[in-house]
Amino acid sequence: MSCCGRFAVLAFMLCAFLPSAARAQHFGDVREPVAGQSESIGRYNAGCLRGGQALPWDGTGYQVVRLNRRRYFGHPDLVDYLVNLGQRVAGAGLGTIMIADLGQAAGGPMRGSSHRSHQSGLDADIWLRLGVPRLDMGSRESVVSQLVVDRPNWVIAHSQWTPQHAELLHLAGTDPRVSRIFVHPAIKRELCNMPWPDRSWLRVIRPWMGHDSHFHVRLHCPADSPQCVPQDPVPEGDGCGEDLDLWFPDPNRIDEPLPPYVPPPMPEACAQLLNAALQ
Ligand SMILES: [Zn+2]
Repeated sequence: MSCCGRFAVLAFMLCAFLPSAARAQHFGDVREPVAGQSESIGRYNAGCLRGGQALPWDGTGYQVVRLNRRRYFGHPDLVDYLVNLGQRVAGAGLGTIMIADLGQAAGGPMRGSSHRSHQSGLDADIWLRLGVPRLDMGSRESVVSQLVVDRPNWVIAHSQWTPQHAELLHLAGTDPRVSRIFVHPAIKRELCNMPWPDRSWLRVIRPWMGHDSHFHVRLHCPADSPQCVPQDPVPEGDGCGEDLDLWFPDPNRIDEPLPPYVPPPMPEACAQLLNAALQ
């Protein structure tokens, strides 16, 4: 039991003002979903989850990997989305995809992780490695993802990338529950250069660094979650023009350094949820 459970009054005062690193420790201590009506609370990068569901470790067309991390919890909308995506993946003959981190049982920040988001039960990482058979539980801890980008040259790695990867992203991006899908800029450019009959789905495919061996799906705030803070809508259009070009290095352009990342404040409702979960 944590400090929060043993000394309730003092703990409430402490926990309400815990710095983010300490909060990450505590959210990681919540092993099971918090009971109650399912609700995504707060922002994708400063939030938590009530009534989370575990994504079943196996389903048609998918398998969950890195189970020991216990980051396979999400809002029921996310679980339903992923189960449905697996069925569509199988239906398209793409084999069995590997799904890694969703979120913790009660969401919140994760200790020892590079994830800034994945906090409100609406984000999931899916590996860009196809053709792997269904694995036993031990192998799911050691299997590795696959880079599909030639990083030094900022282009797709054609030795690894296949039309099936593009189709996987197409399937993932054509569900109306999806707000954004983050991929490396070289992946977005590759998709932009393909002759899609309907290009509207490309709008949700957003360039972001680091997503070159997996992609990251983010769902809209669910209808049952009034405290969920939505992100700004993605701009109109397919996102294949100048905005995408800006992600690529250009010796003729001087880029301003990015300001240091400062996480938004955690909602009070999440401090209360955490306190209740750890009592
Ligand atoms: Zn992610």
